Amino acid sequence: MKHVRALKCLLCSREFQPEEVEYTCSTCGEGGILEVLYDYDRIALLLRRENLAHDDDRSIWRYKPLLPVEPDSPRPPLAVGWSPLYPVERLRHALNLPGLFVKDDGRNPTASLKDRASAVGIVKALERGAREVTCASTGNAASSWAGAAASLGLKSYIFVPQTAPQGKLAQLLVFGATIFPVTGTYDQAFDLAIEATARFGWYNRNTAYNPYLVEGKKTVALEIAEQLGWEAPDKVFVSVGDGCILSGVFKGFADLLALGWIERMPQVIGVQAEGSSAIEQAWRTHTPLQPSPAVTIADSISVSLPRNGIMALRDLERWGGRMLTVTDEEILEAMRLLGREAGIFGEPAGVTGLAGMLKARDLGLLDQKERIVAIVTGNGLKDVASALQAVRMPPAIPPTLAAVEEALNSPVLP
Ligand SMILES: *Cc1c(COP(=O)(O)O)cnc(C)c1O
Ligand SMILES: [Zn+2]
Repeated sequence: MKHVRALKCLLCSREFQPEEVEYTCSTCGEGGILEVLYDYDRIALLLRRENLAHDDDRSIWRYKPLLPVEPDSPRPPLAVGWSPLYPVERLRHALNLPGLFVKDDGRNPTASLKDRASAVGIVKALERGAREVTCASTGNAASSWAGAAASLGLKSYIFVPQTAPQGKLAQLLVFGATIFPVTGTYDQAFDLAIEATARFGWYNRNTAYNPYLVEGKKTVALEIAEQLGWEAPDKVFVSVGDGCILSGVFKGFADLLALGWIERMPQVIGVQAEGSSAIEQAWRTHTPLQPSPAVTIADSISVSLPRNGIMALRDLERWGGRMLTVTDEEILEAMRLLGREAGIFGEPAGVTGLAGMLKARDLGLLDQKERIVAIVTGNGLKDVASALQAVRMPPAIPPTLAAVEEALNSPVLP
């Protein structure tokens, strides 16, 4: 990987060559998460905007020279990325925001943005000759990892909280993963997966622990810029759990700035659920990250100790980003609004970025002239039970027209 300059520890700044290190800094241990640094001069020789315009590879692999993989590494078979950036006309009108776009990342192979990270992670597993892989996850990282592994015939061992939504557990089992439903929190499952990695030698995709995931996630920002004609939007709203997608969004735009393909950084706004807001609290109070118990309907961002917190806070500071929180009720409201005004179905964490955008609008933080992107990070079908809390199911009727008329006259709201 001549285009990768080094992997740099966020705590002690020590730099490693990729072959020297697997996961985190050998001096700092698990807290020493590593950032991938590139040689942009070399990348500029391999990747040009003009060539991308003629590239019919509609997946993250169109940006391969910007990804931390060997040039001749195989490309996994699932079609990840190039999700639509919708101009959502009716939603624009309803909100009086003519520059609003929604990036629907629920349209990935396993229905969440996590597929971007898993695609890069699974190539790293292949490069190391791994046949068995593992991760801990609130659900989506696991299902995307298990899907990526299945597409290549690798064996996956997955740790999830026992309470993960049924849809995500079903995906895992259908993909043939060996799953360990843990009677504990995501945070406990995370630590257990790392212990199991040390014991059994499985290749590990735990968020932030594995340094290559942010690089996969950044492709969402590369696509947004390309879909907007190589112009950065003014604001991007995205939901935050461990903070890895947030750093990925920053990284993608930072790469494009370094290449001179965009002129400025958008303001990136991370949105957490009020009941799981460690990064927002640390950002707002300028204090170190403190774990706090996580309680929210948005299971994918229900995280007590955000594993990528240090990098997320560094990025927010460096690039002038900001954080917001929203309540579970605001998340459900955003889910209904997006469904009704755009025909897009997001899971609770999937629409949390949009919920934050609605809050920003109420707080007067948005300008009508701005180009604003809300990223939908996961599909609503993953967690139908939560979606049903956002709506009301009408009572059943007998199969007669009279009953239809009666029901029409007494509609169940909303
Ligand atoms: C994982 C996830 C997030 C949060 O991503 P982090 O990198 O943990 O911050 C948001 N939405 C969905 C649907 C997710 O699966
Ligand atoms: Zn270190």
